[in-house]
Amino acid sequence: MKGSQGKLLILLGFLFLVKTTSPQSFSVLPDDPMATEEDKQFILRTYQLARTASENGNRPFAAILVHKGEVLAEFQSSSTSTGDITKHDVTGLISQFSPELDRSIWQESVIYTSTEPCVMCCGAIYWSGVSRVVYGVTARKLESFLPNYHGISSREIFEKINNEIVVVGPVLEAKGLEIHQQYWPNRK
Ligand SMILES: [Zn+2]
Repeated sequence: MKGSQGKLLILLGFLFLVKTTSPQSFSVLPDDPMATEEDKQFILRTYQLARTASENGNRPFAAILVHKGEVLAEFQSSSTSTGDITKHDVTGLISQFSPELDRSIWQESVIYTSTEPCVMCCGAIYWSGVSRVVYGVTARKLESFLPNYHGISSREIFEKINNEIVVVGPVLEAKGLEIHQQYWPNRK
């Protein structure tokens, strides 16, 4: 083998090792241009709560309900600690607070969620009557961490069930992804 071929093989081997041993890297999407500064602040709050959820032994998801700029309710995913699979962030939020808040309040409110809502959560959003949903991380990114999860776009779901619901996202996706990257390894 010529010296240059040997060097090439060593280089290829090194690149292979780097690729297979480095942490997963993602192409982070830019913020949705429809996201306001206020939206970004509320998404940061959901990220804070998602971290707390993971510290409490749950999966790192959280949602909040905001009415005219005021946070009315917050919910951290608690499926793991309770064993109740419907305790996702959004379904939990709606289930706990819909009996307490008038229907008109829901219609004027926005739901913020740390990661794009799943099919079950989209159904709950539809029934809650809210007209706007803002998410941090795109659902498709979760597929990298949860091999059996299908990250269907919430926009596609709402187009079919109620295309009057405005969906905004992703918002500050890089910050939200950091939480998933820290949480999921060794938890599949
Ligand atoms: Zn869900």
